[in-house]
Amino acid sequence: MTMVKLIAGNWKMHGTSEDLGEVRTIAEWSKKFEGAVEVALCVPATLIHRAAEAVPGFLIGAQDIHHKEKGAHTGDVCAAMLHDAGAGIVIVGHSERRDAHREADGHVKAKAEAGLGAGLKVILCVGESLEEREAGRAVETVGRQVDASLPAGPVDTGTFALAYEPIWAIGTGRVAEVEDIEEMHSAIRERLVAAYGETGAGVRILYGGSVKASNAGEIFAVPNVGGALVGGASLKAADFLPIVEAGAD
Ligand code: PEP
Repeated sequence: MTMVKLIAGNWKMHGTSEDLGEVRTIAEWSKKFEGAVEVALCVPATLIHRAAEAVPGFLIGAQDIHHKEKGAHTGDVCAAMLHDAGAGIVIVGHSERRDAHREADGHVKAKAEAGLGAGLKVILCVGESLEEREAGRAVETVGRQVDASLPAGPVDTGTFALAYEPIWAIGTGRVAEVEDIEEMHSAIRERLVAAYGETGAGVRILYGGSVKASNAGEIFAVPNVGGALVGGASLKAADFLPIVEAGAD
């Protein structure tokens, strides 16, 4: 089965209307690889609407979601609001949110279910700390996160993806060894199959953590790598597009 890779940019807390030119360039160039790779840009909530209007047909996303449909949740945004603003995809459980906002696995699971339930595509993030890796507990830690954060099935392979992001590799320039990526993605695959049966074999597992043009090809060649979640290198079209191109190979 050929799996079209998903390459998603995570702009984090970067980007205002001045950066819409980058969004336009990325969307325009990505069209060249239509059908060979799926590309998304998860921009700050304030930019979703303008970005979605600027690039019709291109997948614009959010970086978080509230798990409830509405209510007294000052500062939060629910799935229907993201959808209304023009988002088609959302990241849940990014380690920066798990850490800074104390998001636990059960909470992340509820967010994933809220996104999928509202018709958004979802990228669910998991990953171990440096301490956990150095203690030889990386696979065990991530396995536990996966089991406890996966949305209740059935899921659709086109709308649900998982991202393995070793925390120590995010924004640091350090990349996991290909052998370690292979081991982790294979362990995650087993858990996806245990959770969803045959469908689990088709769920894309993205790698995230200092992916850039110079290492993307090597990472995409690793078995069970179904794309990438890209932070820093997604901010500029010139850095991001070679990664998109590598994903289309
Ligand atoms: C991320 O934000 O999910 C990420 C992987 O960042 P970076 O590519 O900058 O390491």
